[in-house]
Amino acid sequence: MDELRRRRYLQALGIEVWESRAKGMAATPLTDDRVTGRAPSVDFVASRLPPPASRPVPQDWAGLQAAVAGCRKCRLCETRTNTVFGVGPSHAPLMVVGEGPGADEDARGEPFVGRAGKLLDEMLKAIGRSRKTDTYIANVVKCRPPGNREPAADEAEACRAYLEQQLRLVKPKLIVALGRVAAQRLLVTDTPIGRMRGQRYSWGPDATPLMVTYHPAYLLRSPGDKAKSWEDLKRIHRYLSE
Ligand code: SF4
Repeated sequence: MDELRRRRYLQALGIEVWESRAKGMAATPLTDDRVTGRAPSVDFVASRLPPPASRPVPQDWAGLQAAVAGCRKCRLCETRTNTVFGVGPSHAPLMVVGEGPGADEDARGEPFVGRAGKLLDEMLKAIGRSRKTDTYIANVVKCRPPGNREPAADEAEACRAYLEQQLRLVKPKLIVALGRVAAQRLLVTDTPIGRMRGQRYSWGPDATPLMVTYHPAYLLRSPGDKAKSWEDLKRIHRYLSE
């Protein structure tokens, strides 16, 4: 990954890029090892899938999208403006899974279109990817939880079959869970996100590799963890480039 991309990403995150006073020498908050990357120690941990969702869902994209658009399986249908299905190429090598729609997403019917969405686009751009070309983006729940609260367990469970079918249809090379809620739902665990980062998990019967990183909305609120997301992005980029 080149210097320009690294700088663009750090600037998008609001991380100051320092220049050394010595001519020709650049110093940044990240050391060379962390920027250019020694191979991280990666553990493979097979995730257990929960039992299949009780009601079958359509197996094809059009049917699945129509089912979500008319879905009333949980209370979130009562307050939504639009369902937010997902966006991106139908066979993208990278599939990113977030938590649920916010106000902007609910209004437009597309995931990650607010401030956090802009940051996600910058994060993807930093590793040469985008929702237009090679990244599919979806959420754990397809309808906005009121007041931007977390989806409740029963809401996420009601919506699970839709996400699982999206994952089966896309068949990505890598799944990236954005934030604690997505990671814990996909991996059926209550492990804190800080302990899940830096590991490589697997999802589903085909053992699709899965990595965990912070949600962009969290990064906007928590500047102290911004540099760590850059480490995660480098791992993602390395894996996808293999
Ligand atoms: S969140 Fe999912 S399960 Fe609940 S109403 Fe929306 S589409 Fe249906």
